[in-house]
Amino acid sequence: MLAAMSDARTEPPPNAAPQGWCVCGQKVPIADAREVTLPNGKPGWEGYCPECGAPLFAIRRKTASD
Ligand SMILES: [Zn+2]
Repeated sequence: MLAAMSDARTEPPPNAAPQGWCVCGQKVPIADAREVTLPNGKPGWEGYCPECGAPLFAIRRKTASD
C-alpha cells in the first residue's frame, strides 16, 4: 500500500489535465478525460493512459472554488 502524503510537491494547476495512477505504475495525465460518476456516486474521471493505453479512472477532487 502506498502512503500517499500530499506534501508541497508539484501540484498541477486546477485547469491542468486530470492525473491518475495507471496500472503501468506511473502517474499520468488522463488522456481523453471526461467527467463521469462512479458507481459509488463519487465524481470521477474516465479516460486512458497516454503511455500504455490502458483505461484509466480517477476520483475527481472537489473544487475549492465551488
Ligand atoms: Zn499506463
